[in-house]
Amino acid sequence: MVSYKEIGLVHTREMFAKAVAGGYAIPAFNFNNMEQLQAIIQAAAETKSPVILQVSKGARNYANQTLLRYMAEGAVEYAKELGWEHPQIVLHLDHGDSFETCKSCVDMGFSSVMIDASALPYEENIALTKKVVDYAHQFDVTVEAELGVLAGVEDEVSAAESHYTKPEEVIDFASRTGCDSLAISIGTSHGAYKFTPEQCTRDPKTGRLVPPPLAFDVLHEIEKKLPGFPIVLHGSSSVPQEYVDEINALGGKLPDAVGIPEEQLREASKSAVCKINIDSDSRLAMTAAIRRVFHDKPGEFDPRKYLGPARDEMKKLYKHKIVNVLGSDGKAE
Ligand SMILES: [Zn+2]
Repeated sequence: MVSYKEIGLVHTREMFAKAVAGGYAIPAFNFNNMEQLQAIIQAAAETKSPVILQVSKGARNYANQTLLRYMAEGAVEYAKELGWEHPQIVLHLDHGDSFETCKSCVDMGFSSVMIDASALPYEENIALTKKVVDYAHQFDVTVEAELGVLAGVEDEVSAAESHYTKPEEVIDFASRTGCDSLAISIGTSHGAYKFTPEQCTRDPKTGRLVPPPLAFDVLHEIEKKLPGFPIVLHGSSSVPQEYVDEINALGGKLPDAVGIPEEQLREASKSAVCKINIDSDSRLAMTAAIRRVFHDKPGEFDPRKYLGPARDEMKKLYKHKIVNVLGSDGKAE
């Protein structure tokens, strides 16, 4: 049993309270490897932004949960080396699917866990979420729960159809589970193919797909029911079309990949939305940078020569999100 406090991590409670009051959101970036982690920490340190490092089931299968946890411990020390005196770094389990998984993360030093029981019937979602909350709170670990269903596919989370969160359920759910934050469904979606062309309109000038807008009315309804309660948005990559175009021009094949417009996320950040999950965008940044190197220098075979540029591209993306979309820069001086 290791407490996250011993390794310099923080939980989300104060961080979220400040973000809700201050009208900004905390970035939650998924990580699976060293270059991605370096890029996240460099971006957060340079902008002095609180940051949530997320570990998904896919990441645990790919890189090993224990190794990722030690990488996060190293990240705290690395942040200090970069001149960030008091780093505010959360290590968070993304989409925990059972009590056992959440418990194992709490026990090994995660400072926050998500229990995603949103696919279960309402009462079962409450029972499982409460069980995780009761355990995690003994160790001052914060818990994110989910109500409503997001569409899309990411790692091992997938659903064919989305169901918006029902505002009439949120008070009952939050009070009976004791969760610290709530992921809701208002039209975001996992992955790089968030919407089918049929769900979108097309910009006549550029021919690009324009996704349906987020359901801000549902968000505002939820905010009214639970004033100041921390709300989380999953599936909030914007799928930058420059990356999609570059990947496609250099031999890739990502037809009609489309995400959530950044202006809408900026708007959401000003509300009770205090955590925004971004994963696919860094995958696209990494892929575009690696394709660029392979195209320009076909003789290159030193992984540092293509993973290095990939790291730089991801860092640029993370800083852009922090400063221009979430507004969390300077909030962890
Ligand atoms: Zn998610």
